[in-house]
Amino acid sequence: MNKEEEEAAGFNYPPRGRRLRTYPEMADRVLRACFPYYSLLSAKYRKRFVERVIAFLNFHYIDGGEGLVVTDEMAIRIAAAQVRMSLGLRSPLLTAFPQIIVYEASYYSPFTKSYNKGETNSRGIIVLSWKYFDEGFSDPSDGLNLAYHEFAHAIVAQYTRYSYGGWTFDSAFQELSRAIAEDHIDRKAREAGLFREYAFTNKMEFFAVATEEFFENPEEISKYCPALFRIFCRLYRQDPLKPL
Ligand SMILES: [Zn+2]
Repeated sequence: MNKEEEEAAGFNYPPRGRRLRTYPEMADRVLRACFPYYSLLSAKYRKRFVERVIAFLNFHYIDGGEGLVVTDEMAIRIAAAQVRMSLGLRSPLLTAFPQIIVYEASYYSPFTKSYNKGETNSRGIIVLSWKYFDEGFSDPSDGLNLAYHEFAHAIVAQYTRYSYGGWTFDSAFQELSRAIAEDHIDRKAREAGLFREYAFTNKMEFFAVATEEFFENPEEISKYCPALFRIFCRLYRQDPLKPL
């Protein structure tokens, strides 16, 4: 793929688009209206949530592909997905992935040479289709969530490369890898009918699909595969059954 093809597809580098400067009041209003999890949080964590949404939007370049205009509300909702996942971590920023590109629906990716709903690629770009992003949140417990899936890939790619304070995501991820290799925890999850078939493509997809289920269906995982649930609580440093 040459540079022209990449640019035509919206995969520019360095990042393009805008960093949204938003205000706590505006973020709070959008989150209350569009992100039900936010309203479950204590006042302390709602404040942290808003601060992190603002930090995320100050850092990440968000741009629409094929002429899509990304509104402030859309940008705040995208940030909210990652902020929720990383609320137990020290930072919500995906510094290895400064660029987020949003398409209206599925799009042709010059990287995978296929039509995709989303991707996280090694050029530091996360791509989301708004249609599927929106569907992911329309049913909060069907275990299908494009944003959680792609951000899970980004979190692994970023944190297994960089140490993270005293704690490393690496060590928790190694624990998951061990549980797959030695205890066949993925097979147990499959037998329990916990995840859709795509989870068993490879370890990375298992992690991404399990992440969707962890945030959307925590009761199921904790009931039918408690060992896996405990590993995910350690990975994300939060227990979705106990809102912060
Ligand atoms: Zn994936």
